Amino acid sequence: MYKFNYLLLLIVIVFFSSFSSNEEKTPIKDKFVIVLDAGHGGHDPGNMGNKYIEKDIALNVVLKIGKQLEKNPNIRVVYTRKTDVFIELDKRGEIANKAKADLFVSIHCNSFHTQANGTETFVLGLHRNKTNLEVAKKENSVILLEEDYHEKYAGYDPNSPESIIGLTLMQEEYLDQSIQLADYIQKSFKNKLKRKSRGVKQAGFIVLHQTVMPSVLIELGFLTYKKEGAYLNSKKGQDEMSKSIVGSILEYKKSIDQGTEQNIITQENTINSNTGDDIIFKVQIAASSRNLALKSYNFKGLKDLSKVKQGKLYKYFSGSTNDYEEIKALQKIAKSKGYPKCYVVAYKNGTRVSLSTVLKK
Ligand SMILES: [Zn+2]
Repeated sequence: MYKFNYLLLLIVIVFFSSFSSNEEKTPIKDKFVIVLDAGHGGHDPGNMGNKYIEKDIALNVVLKIGKQLEKNPNIRVVYTRKTDVFIELDKRGEIANKAKADLFVSIHCNSFHTQANGTETFVLGLHRNKTNLEVAKKENSVILLEEDYHEKYAGYDPNSPESIIGLTLMQEEYLDQSIQLADYIQKSFKNKLKRKSRGVKQAGFIVLHQTVMPSVLIELGFLTYKKEGAYLNSKKGQDEMSKSIVGSILEYKKSIDQGTEQNIITQENTINSNTGDDIIFKVQIAASSRNLALKSYNFKGLKDLSKVKQGKLYKYFSGSTNDYEEIKALQKIAKSKGYPKCYVVAYKNGTRVSLSTVLKK
């Protein structure tokens, strides 16, 4: 008898935990994927101000960042390179896109012919001034080392400002998030490490253009400025800078996670009493900070998919009909396919409205 009760209890626990583990917020993959990109490598040393070597410093810092992030069970780290090899710029973006990364972080060191110094973090965009353009041109010019760059980058000329400006469209969607992370990174450098911050900036970096996720490019500092170059080349400097970047990435992740929950609560509390004939019902199957392609294989085989972006959150739906009975049937299907917590939502003229109000009419 005792044994039987124990078995029953076990079955009940397994039964319920299988439901709660399928949270609607994390529909596809449960880990936050971060791609770390050490600039340059192999026959491309980057800049060599004061004989410090950019490709080595970038790699050291990336490996240190990765080592710390890998300790977090909710994070998966992907590297564009872990050794001293040359990776083409478009390949770096490809690695990130294939990994369906949530974040792309590229690490570089700056150089200039003056005594310029300080850290800066770039997001993709129009260069608002000539200095930003110069930084982008230097980092982009690496494609000249690639034999077939004319075909690959569609005739892109790193020395032409217009050519770079033409490259800004893809990242637009992720700009807010990229700026948010860049802001955390610069604030941490400035406040925690007392480094000189040159701020968050925008410029046309090819490597950022190639990615379809929030992406930043960090210039750790100027190797051409003796004191800064020595710091960045030292173990102490690399330890401190990597730790600071890790802290900023985790802060960013936390804000995304919290934003996700807040948005759901806000939405559930929104009551819109406007009703009419043009109501569309959908089954909400998932909500995520990730922008997923509307492919059946991403949603356990469900069809008729749609999504809306609300704040930092994407909401995913299956079905779209003005027939309530039909949507209830589709909800049943979604439940059976692995979305036990899915629910019916109503939209009027593209605006979410309260389901109970709609049904009363
Ligand atoms: Zn560089």
